[in-house]
Amino acid sequence: MHVVVIGAGAAGMMAAYAAATRRATVVLLEKNNKTGVKILMSGGTRCNLTHHTDARGIADAFGHSKRFLQSSLGGFPPQAVVDFFESAGVATKIESTGKVFPVSNRAVQVRDALHRYAVDAGVEIRTGCGVTGIRPDGQKWLVDTGQSVIATDRVIVTTGGKSWPGCGTTGDAYAWMTELGHAVERTRPALVPLIGGEQWMKDLSGLVVDDSIVTVLPVAGRQKSLARRRGSLLFTHFGFSGPAAMDVSGAITAAASFDQIRMIADLVPQCSEEELQAVFGNRQESGKTKVSSLLAMWLPNRLASGIVTQLGQDARLAELSRKSKNRLTQDLKRMPLPVSGTRGFEKAEVTAGGVRLSQINPRTLESRIHKGLFIAGELLDVDGPIGGYNFQAAFSTGRAAGLAASA
Ligand SMILES: Cc1cc2nc3c(=O)[nH]c(=O)nc-3n(C[C@H](O)[C@H](O)[C@H](O)COP(=O)(O)OP(=O)(O)OC[C@H]3O[C@@H](n4cnc5c(N)ncnc54)[C@H](O)[C@@H]3O)c2cc1C
Repeated sequence: MHVVVIGAGAAGMMAAYAAATRRATVVLLEKNNKTGVKILMSGGTRCNLTHHTDARGIADAFGHSKRFLQSSLGGFPPQAVVDFFESAGVATKIESTGKVFPVSNRAVQVRDALHRYAVDAGVEIRTGCGVTGIRPDGQKWLVDTGQSVIATDRVIVTTGGKSWPGCGTTGDAYAWMTELGHAVERTRPALVPLIGGEQWMKDLSGLVVDDSIVTVLPVAGRQKSLARRRGSLLFTHFGFSGPAAMDVSGAITAAASFDQIRMIADLVPQCSEEELQAVFGNRQESGKTKVSSLLAMWLPNRLASGIVTQLGQDARLAELSRKSKNRLTQDLKRMPLPVSGTRGFEKAEVTAGGVRLSQINPRTLESRIHKGLFIAGELLDVDGPIGGYNFQAAFSTGRAAGLAASA
């Protein structure tokens, strides 16, 4: 069996390796001059390669693509990914958030391990080789590299999404897929920093709230949240970033317009509204305390000052009107964080949307429209949260595609 894999990222290298272990003749084509560019820059160059959970824990985090991913994740769950890299000499560690990293904190180890395994299994890797198109030709597939046309029995497309285009991921394959009759769900940035905030929030640039709950709600209709994430929130000169804001960004870009959603933050998730009201109403103990000092118990000083400035008075608690106390509770538990845009694909960690899942066999990753065409990784309509979920999905779907394509 001759297999061509297009795109040497997480999914492509795993697919090529898996196919080669089943004695297929495998050629892996990569437009960059080196493999795994996104792996190298991931996780702040530390590469958060998976999450400390089981296959179900990963699938559950993927929303609408959960059921699609179950089979490939079951065949290659997080523990198998960890074992794979450990066997390649990449010792891993689990951080308190559940994120799994190489002990060395060096993403290059992950890339090198995948690259070496692929080469040792017999994969021919051609870098600096951008594919311009693919087409079926009888029982074969023709892969056009601009300089030559490679005929192959099976083709695995793992060209990724279109976020961070400087990494080589410029969304080339969406057009190929459409031409081949595949539907491509609207692509949009996800895990992306958000533009917005009032001026006083932008003035907090660099400030981190370690523990917050960020929620996205529809402006109209039922007030059921569209996304909700507990984690750290970063105020920036343009708006909001950090895991909590980035994780809900996909729900924001899914909306038809920014006017249709609103984002709020619970800045003190450790206290219920009732507890806050009790503290604000306690005239004996905290009555003499200034509001800014009280808020500084829970929040960074600059944020506490910002909230008090918005309130219009840094009074002693006992002097605050009921209206101001309610406003304060509201600000702490449901601070509106206005969003007017995102940093776009340039700064999005993943691309939401992609090749429609119902047209792909979830067990083999083979197209249901064209025999011999396999699609894996972020090119598919899958996007997960921060935490190693996206690499895990790329490794699992890549491996399943590689094994099936070589069969
Ligand atoms: C800054 C950043 C940090 C991230 N950190 C993490 C993290 O720590 N943990 C995590 O789980 N996820 C992380 N992600 C997301 C993760 O990198 C992706 O989800 C994952 O790389 C997707 O794997 P893939 O193999 O599908 O695509 P990619 O890894 O993007 O690989 C696609 C490859 O195809 C190549 N290619 C594209 N078009 C062509 C063509 N026409 N011809 C030949 N080759 C082509 C590209 O050059 C690229 O090498 C991060 C993303 C970014 C941008």
